[in-house]
Amino acid sequence: MSDVNPFESLRTQIDEAAQYLDVADGELERLKSPERVLEANLSVEMDDGSIEVFRGYRSQFNGDRGPYKGGIRYHPAVTRDEVKALSGWMVYKTATSAVPLGGGKGGIVIDPSEYSESELERITRAFAAELTPLIGADRDVPAPDVNTGQREMNWIKDTYETIENTTEPGVITGKDLSSGGSEGRVEATGRSTVVAAREAFDYLDKDVEHARVAVQGYGNAGWIAAKLVYEMGANVVAVSDSSGAIYGEDTLDPVDVKEYKRETGSVTGYPDADRELTNDELLTLDVDLLIPAALENAIDESLAHDIEADVVSEAANGPITPAADDVLRETDTLVIPDILANAGGVVVSYFEWVQNRQRFYWTRDRVNEELDGKIVDQFWNLVEAYEDRDLPSLRTAAYVVALERVIDAGEQRGTWP
Ligand code: GLU
Repeated sequence: MSDVNPFESLRTQIDEAAQYLDVADGELERLKSPERVLEANLSVEMDDGSIEVFRGYRSQFNGDRGPYKGGIRYHPAVTRDEVKALSGWMVYKTATSAVPLGGGKGGIVIDPSEYSESELERITRAFAAELTPLIGADRDVPAPDVNTGQREMNWIKDTYETIENTTEPGVITGKDLSSGGSEGRVEATGRSTVVAAREAFDYLDKDVEHARVAVQGYGNAGWIAAKLVYEMGANVVAVSDSSGAIYGEDTLDPVDVKEYKRETGSVTGYPDADRELTNDELLTLDVDLLIPAALENAIDESLAHDIEADVVSEAANGPITPAADDVLRETDTLVIPDILANAGGVVVSYFEWVQNRQRFYWTRDRVNEELDGKIVDQFWNLVEAYEDRDLPSLRTAAYVVALERVIDAGEQRGTWP
């Protein structure tokens, strides 16, 4: 794990792709910078009557293609630059996936495990009140991210609707079904990670059945990816969370591991595992598919030299540093970039937003089919750009395609004043 600044990583990724496009310097700087960032200090009463102050951010990076869109994370390592990077990745993710949305991101510097549910509700509502003037179904639409989920989204929706005296479920996505959420949204990030990997295997003429898979991170994205790839017949030989990793030579049973984690708080100590591994040992296993599903910078330049996976499907945002990416390119590791691989979350958020606006709800099968179709189309679209335009990687191809879409939309709007 390295401390590379994720905002610098984003800017490097855009610079690399911009070499293949004709972009003037001023325009390039615009494409690399957020339009605005809110920084708020939230004073919140704790259960014991004391006051604590929490720092929250919301970065609105680019809205040329539609309302800003992106999650809100709760993590002690949240920084202004991290939120800026994550908001930029959202711009290029919505563009790569061809959904008519821009990009934004938010975060609160907090370890949520240290607070009670009622404290978390007050913290979330305080943040929602700060966000209310900035967000809206046509303005900026937040969603879940690391350590946030349906519960927080329901609170934010309620706070917004109460202040604005309206009903506007499309102000936020990732809600509970009875609060206007969509079928399939919880599984969507893990699902796209695996659908994209399935297509990559097809591209490389490899079989998913019996493929060996390692998954770093057992949160919402990681555990669902493990479950779905297992259902496709792959062997999930290793999984991890922040307390360590476990290995099962034949395969682990992802649902059973999840059950164990729910009971004990961690995957480590799982009785049916053959042995425990360190995080780096998991990442460097000789597997067919590696799914980094934790945080940024999981694979840095020095670790990249030891990566043995044939395919890496990025469920996390920014898990591979730009220098590590260069190494993986040299070693012919096929990396499916985050802005396609984990786009399922925002794609189904888009479906949720569409359903909210129509007040007409889809079946789970329809959601999954539309998601599958979108990821398959965009995967092959990137392969075509990668091959026909002789680009160095699928990541560069994704940025080239996405930048073109954002630049086009921006040019058509023009500059004002
Ligand atoms: N937080 C997710 C992401 O990083 C989902 C964002 C959304 O649904 O708007 O893509």
